[in-house]
Amino acid sequence: MRICVYCASSALVDAVYFEATERLAKILVAAGVSVVYGGGAVGLMGKLADTVIASGGSIKGIMPNFMNEVEWAHKQVTDFEFTDTMHERKARFLAGIDGLVTLPGGSGTLEELLEAITLKRLGQFTKPIIILNTNGFYDPLKQMLDRCITEKFMHEKHRQMWTFVDEPEEVIASIHSAEAWDEAAIQFATNK
Ligand code: AMP
Repeated sequence: MRICVYCASSALVDAVYFEATERLAKILVAAGVSVVYGGGAVGLMGKLADTVIASGGSIKGIMPNFMNEVEWAHKQVTDFEFTDTMHERKARFLAGIDGLVTLPGGSGTLEELLEAITLKRLGQFTKPIIILNTNGFYDPLKQMLDRCITEKFMHEKHRQMWTFVDEPEEVIASIHSAEAWDEAAIQFATNK
């Protein structure tokens, strides 16, 4: 399996988030998963890549050229793809993967996650989306998405697009048990 992981660039977050990232990285490597991520060397991104490499796993970074020019690319990640724009990078994250896992993060992580959910709603992306709710970080997002559905901004069926899990140990099983999704989602993308 090839899994894309979205996570924070910040190096200043609580140790609980670094620990969850490290556990997730080890679990992915043990399961033989190839990891795709943003290519960064710091924060949770750095922890993810460091751990995958130290565990003997496979990891690929996808980063826009302007970030590489300011030397944000992880030096030990050998498999890299550079893009012209942030938009192109986000499209490349989702190409050819079997699932997406989102750890806690800031605006970049949230934006990437919400774009993937939006594309899935339109049937343009069909793979499992797992949201790792370490420390209850994503409780407000869960509430927001629930509210989108209860207030009919989204359809009840859209709840099947994502899975919230509390622990990294639940990630692989939740990818396997995620509801099937396909291009036909376009038929119920809009509430009318
Ligand atoms: P955030 O969750 O806001 O930290 O955003 C993560 C995203 O921020 C990444 O996917 C990148 O687009 C971007 N980013 C910010 N700083 C860095 C960095 N030092 N290295 C790599 N990506 C970064």
